[in-house]
Amino acid sequence: MAEPVSTERIGNVAIVEIDNPPVNALGSLIRQHLEDHVRAALEDDGVDAVVLAARGKHFSGGADIREFGQPSTGPDLPGLIARLEAADKPIVAALKGTVFGGGFELALGCHYRIADSSARFALPEVRLGLLPGAGGTQRLTRLIGPEAAVKLIVTGEPIDAREALSLGIVDRLDDGDPREAAIAFAGEIAKTRPLPRVSEMTDRIAAVDPVAFDAVAERFLAANRGLTAPRACVASVRNAFTRPFAEGLAEERRMFAELRGSDESRAQRHLFFAERAALKVPGLDATVKPRPVQKIAVIGAGTMGGGIAMSLASGGYDVTIVDQSDDALTARLQAIAGLYRKSAARGASAAEGETALARISSTTDFAAAVGGADLVIEAVFERMDLKKQIFGELGTLTKPGTVLATNTSSLDVNEIAEASGRPGDVLGMHFFSPANVMKLLEVVRGDKTDPDALATAIEVGRRSGKIPVTVGVCFGFVGNRMMAARTRQLDAMLLEGASPAEIDAEARRFGNAMGPCAVSDLAGLDVGYLVRKESGRRAYVIDAIAESGRHGQKTGKGLYRYDPGDRRPIPDPEVDTFIDALALQAGVTRRPIPDDEIGERLVYPMINEAARILEEGIAARPSDIDLIWISGYGFPRTKGGPMFHADTIGLPTIVARLDELAERTGSEELHPAPLLRRLAEQGGSFGDMNGS
Ligand code: NAD
Repeated sequence: MAEPVSTERIGNVAIVEIDNPPVNALGSLIRQHLEDHVRAALEDDGVDAVVLAARGKHFSGGADIREFGQPSTGPDLPGLIARLEAADKPIVAALKGTVFGGGFELALGCHYRIADSSARFALPEVRLGLLPGAGGTQRLTRLIGPEAAVKLIVTGEPIDAREALSLGIVDRLDDGDPREAAIAFAGEIAKTRPLPRVSEMTDRIAAVDPVAFDAVAERFLAANRGLTAPRACVASVRNAFTRPFAEGLAEERRMFAELRGSDESRAQRHLFFAERAALKVPGLDATVKPRPVQKIAVIGAGTMGGGIAMSLASGGYDVTIVDQSDDALTARLQAIAGLYRKSAARGASAAEGETALARISSTTDFAAAVGGADLVIEAVFERMDLKKQIFGELGTLTKPGTVLATNTSSLDVNEIAEASGRPGDVLGMHFFSPANVMKLLEVVRGDKTDPDALATAIEVGRRSGKIPVTVGVCFGFVGNRMMAARTRQLDAMLLEGASPAEIDAEARRFGNAMGPCAVSDLAGLDVGYLVRKESGRRAYVIDAIAESGRHGQKTGKGLYRYDPGDRRPIPDPEVDTFIDALALQAGVTRRPIPDDEIGERLVYPMINEAARILEEGIAARPSDIDLIWISGYGFPRTKGGPMFHADTIGLPTIVARLDELAERTGSEELHPAPLLRRLAEQGGSFGDMNGS
């Protein structure tokens, strides 16, 4: 095995190079070798300057987060960076590709930073429920000022090399090899003193207006309500301009350690691994290559078709939307252009919006559009006869190898696949509304879907900025099936005596932005009602309310009432009276339902349904289910998803409560699923099923 860190001498410059594929993560072994090599170079009288470089495409992706929670060995990163910065010979970082997290902090400890245009900089720790804990908050604030620093640190978003240059993060941008450029640069400045140490810089923190800073910080915090880490990030950046460097650094380390041990960060780290695990689909190994895709036809210019087209265009695909009338197409394209204008007004790149818009065309010529496509995504009305007819036509009108996807949310993908006559090419690509915003993509694998067709849908989803999670065929797939289990409990609780406001308050306490009753009113009670009706199901209370003409916000009345022009839900005594009458009819004596029971009944039946989904092999692993609920249904990130949350509560507790509820309510479906009961009895957890 190659040495993970090596030193090469060119004249009076020592090049210390990290070689830890794939992203040069800074695990304990690397830190130890780095420390040794840099020290040796600094102690060598023949060396006047050091270049810190890395092999491969990326400088460094940062800490090795698999080491979190394990006892730390070797020098810690903050100490290593401090010793680099304190060196009496210049150290020049040669940056390219990913310069993230600890890798970015390492670069900030160097005296100079040279980058090529491939370099991307980010401090994404906040996404793991952390703050940059190796001096990042203190040094970056000193280098580029608090307002620019807080944006990078609280959003965790990457910036490109050009922006890094304009902010002053890099000293020089060089389009040649950054290693060569850094060596030449090191030669030039080898004797220049004093050495620029970021920790000693004061220009950018000398005259900060704390009120203006707070206003900027508040903007970024607004998008992160309920999370602790973003607040800690802001506090730490504030320390950088209000306290001496050493104090700010010690406080940063203290907050980092505290966050690292928190449930919130454990949940976020779980989701980080969940996202990677979801791309490992059983039966799809590295030998299965996605089919080439450039042209995509989207059938149906409705709400979903429009959003899907926007996502695909931002992924660089050429999209043609097909519908039956020019009017529908014109209206949809206008709506899309409006959405791009709106996001440009909110700060997105107008040029990127225009480029994406230019990739979207429209036609009423079905045969021409699908004939030239590498992938077709159907998003017409949710009717089996219509979908079967369309897939029948697709089977003959498309080229061999064109992948045929349906966006159905409830119909049998296998039945649709058979109608095409070539089921190997068919699968579901279940986007969520609004499809240009929501990250989740359930990729529905049919019984006969070819592995490379599946790989194609996953790749297209990933390139379009989605989080693709592969699921099997069943009613509602994973997300909506669990949602239906929750809706049944919601309906039962309404009948038994809980009010919409009580249920929503409990959901908000749990961490949801909105409660399920307010969400139903927003989406329209008629929507769920029609889906249930189509599949022969019924929600006793909610559907009766929908049938009474109360469809939610759009009719001013639903599970709540609404003042004209106001979206705030107001509890409505008429709803109570209505439900009282339903309960009387059903012979149910209404009673107050305690808050903790409401909370349990909103979540435990969903966990139980998920256990059945796992038993049936509809989802490959519990973490896939967590990802679905976090990225598609607004489940609070701090809880890590329903399965992670179940483990946090303890499976025996959940089983005991479900047994009790099943007995009291007589509801068959509340009996714990065999998998759930077995795990609870054996002291196991859903986490055990995720694998490593
Ligand atoms: P929609 O009613 O807004 O749009 C459907 C579009 O399909 C209309 O523009 C219609 O003109 C067009 N259409 C109908 N027949 C056609 C044909 N033969 N050829 C070409 N175009 C035709 O519906 P939507 O909400 O966009 O839903 C579309 C699909 O997406 C459905 O299968 C639905 O279940 C699914 N879905 C919807 C949501 C959601 O929240 N709305 C979420 C996930 C999936």
